[in-house]
Amino acid sequence: MKRPLNTFFMRTYGCQMNELDSEIMVGLLEKRGLKRVMEEESADLLLFNTCSIRDLAERKVMGKIGKISSKEKKALIGVTGCMAMAKKETLFRKLPHIDFILGTNNISELNLVLDEVLETGRQTIRTDNQFEENLDYLVAKRDDPYKAYVSIIRGCDKFCTYCVVPYTRGQEVSRPLESIVEECKLLVSQGYKEITLLGQNVNSYGKDEPTWNHRFHDLLYHLDKIPGLSRIRFMTSHPVDITVDLMQAIRDLPSVCEFVHFPMQAGSNRILKKMHRIYTIEEYLEKVALLKQIVPGVSLGTDIIVGFPTETDAEFEETYKWVKEVGYSVAFIYAYSARKGTPAFRWKDDISEEVKDERLHRLLSLHQEFSLEESKQMLGKHVEVLVEAVTKDETHLKGRTRCWKKVIFEGPRHLIGSLQQVKVTGFSHQTLVGERISPLAIH
Ligand code: SF4
Repeated sequence: MKRPLNTFFMRTYGCQMNELDSEIMVGLLEKRGLKRVMEEESADLLLFNTCSIRDLAERKVMGKIGKISSKEKKALIGVTGCMAMAKKETLFRKLPHIDFILGTNNISELNLVLDEVLETGRQTIRTDNQFEENLDYLVAKRDDPYKAYVSIIRGCDKFCTYCVVPYTRGQEVSRPLESIVEECKLLVSQGYKEITLLGQNVNSYGKDEPTWNHRFHDLLYHLDKIPGLSRIRFMTSHPVDITVDLMQAIRDLPSVCEFVHFPMQAGSNRILKKMHRIYTIEEYLEKVALLKQIVPGVSLGTDIIVGFPTETDAEFEETYKWVKEVGYSVAFIYAYSARKGTPAFRWKDDISEEVKDERLHRLLSLHQEFSLEESKQMLGKHVEVLVEAVTKDETHLKGRTRCWKKVIFEGPRHLIGSLQQVKVTGFSHQTLVGERISPLAIH
């Protein structure tokens, strides 16, 4: 029996890919005529777009949905995202009051699944293992008016031993170049200045389509031609697929930002092999050196896992040494947590929490020291800032440099959404403080 659905509430957990999937689902629901509300209590449909990358992320969602009492439940409840893929039907046993489960590869079927649930009143599940290129990307409803995520490849073929992504998102499927260019042109015509190209491994774009004669760097050359597109970013990358062609594109294309997420994960060859990262630390460092040589002033980001099974003190010291040597502007550092369904889950998680914690804190302090030094080096320099908003206390404008540094400076609100030249005059923690030096916006 049909019941009226007028409003929905959406909560997103996890990475940028999930944020974009949520924006697409919001667009699909609004196309259906539903209105988004920000309070769960006034929603006829509650959607939780979940993350499965860490145990903590899963526990948060389970706790949140578990708290919605089945007796008081008035709204339909749907679980989407990576946890839906990882747990599948078992979620119905753990959370019997949810109405449907929709996997990462099935979000285009959201309205069909809703119809089915409304008509039959039965719990429904769609969790295909493989993505098919059938999404209406143009329907995405974005909150940010100046910066947009654009999906270019979904899934991952790398199978790192600790990672659930190849199991929750399937194999790599590249999106046709024309479709990406069309979406980016549309976004620019709507006033977007910065586009972040998204994928689990953007650098392998096109490899799954042997008949295509374009790869990731070719895509960048196409996008750079779009008039009015000021900045192109991309994430995330696998070091093995970062090519010299790509490095040259970063150097030569004005719109491509000089920031590369270049995840090392560990500094010891034995651990890298156990992680199935398919590069040695020497190969990694060689590419970093080449990138720094080809793109002078490039900023780097990394992901590091500490306390991977069997990691010795000496092996951690290698990671410490190379993190110090390379110097990362952005570092996501995590203590290892075993994920069910991955090869590493079968290994004993033998590094104690105390040791993981100590290694984590040592690397975090190292990174803070580097950031402090980096901020000092920025003093007196001129940087380009895309102005995004006013600060919480409304005293300054805030935005980011091309290299992903946060900057605040004084200025009128009408500059929001424009590019400004700012002279760095100070810093506080990881935020640069500056003075606007260009009276006119740069376009
Ligand atoms: S490359 Fe990234 S997404 Fe792919 S398996 Fe490795 S960690 Fe996971």
